[in-house]
Amino acid sequence: MRFAIFSDVHANLEALEAVLEDARERKCTHFVCLGDVVGYNANPHECVERVREMDCPIVKGNHDEQASLIESSRDFNELAEQAIAWTRDNLTADDKEWLRALRLQRQVRDFTIVHATLDTPEQWGYVFNNLDAAASFTYQHTTVCFFGHTHVPMAFIRDDNGIRRVRIEQLRIEMSKKYFINTGSVGQPRDSEWRAAYCIYDIENNIVEQRRVKYDLASAQKKIINAGLPRLLAERLAIGR
Ligand code: ZN
Repeated sequence: MRFAIFSDVHANLEALEAVLEDARERKCTHFVCLGDVVGYNANPHECVERVREMDCPIVKGNHDEQASLIESSRDFNELAEQAIAWTRDNLTADDKEWLRALRLQRQVRDFTIVHATLDTPEQWGYVFNNLDAAASFTYQHTTVCFFGHTHVPMAFIRDDNGIRRVRIEQLRIEMSKKYFINTGSVGQPRDSEWRAAYCIYDIENNIVEQRRVKYDLASAQKKIINAGLPRLLAERLAIGR
C-alpha cells in the first residue's frame, strides 16, 4: 500500500495535476490531503472539485477555514487577505460548505494527519524548530504524523536521545521512534525550490520518500495575473518563496 500525502495545494491546479500524475506513475494506490486546498492561486473551485472527487482523507487548513467564512476575521496579512477575498468570490456555496465541514485532525490507518500542530490545531501555529515539534509530539499517539502549513519539507524525529530535524529524501520508519513529517507544499513551495512537493509513504516497507515534480509554471502564473490577483503571488512561485 503506497500513500501519496500532499498538502497546501493553494488553488494551483497545474501543480496538483502534475503531483497526482507523478503519484500514479510511482504506483501510489491511496491519497491523503493535509489541507489548504484553496488560497493564493487562481483555481480554487477546480482544486476543490478535483480533491473532492478523489474522496480521500483530508484535514482543514487555515485558508480553507478563512475561505469558507462569510467575511474576513482579520487574521491574515494583506497579501493573503487579498487572495482570500478573491477566493471567497470564486468558490460556490457548495465548495464553502465542504471546506467548512472538514475536520482539524484525523487518523488514517496507523498514522495521524493535521494541517498545523497537534497541540493546538485550531490556532494554526508553525512548526519550524525542535521546541515547536516537542509540543506536537506530546499529543502524537501514532509512530508517524504528517503535517503541512509551513510549505517547507522537513521531518522531526523523536527517540531516546531527544528530537532532531532532518531533510526527508528517504526516511526509514522505525517503530521505536516518532516522526512528525512535513510533506512540503504542492502549490506554493517556500524552500527556494519551485517544483511541487509531496511525500510517498510505503506502509509495507516503512519508507517515506520526498518527491519534487515539475509542472506548467507559466500557465499557473498567467492565470494569477489574468484573475487580477496580486502579481507577487505569480512571481513567488518561480523562486519557491
Ligand atoms: Zn498553506
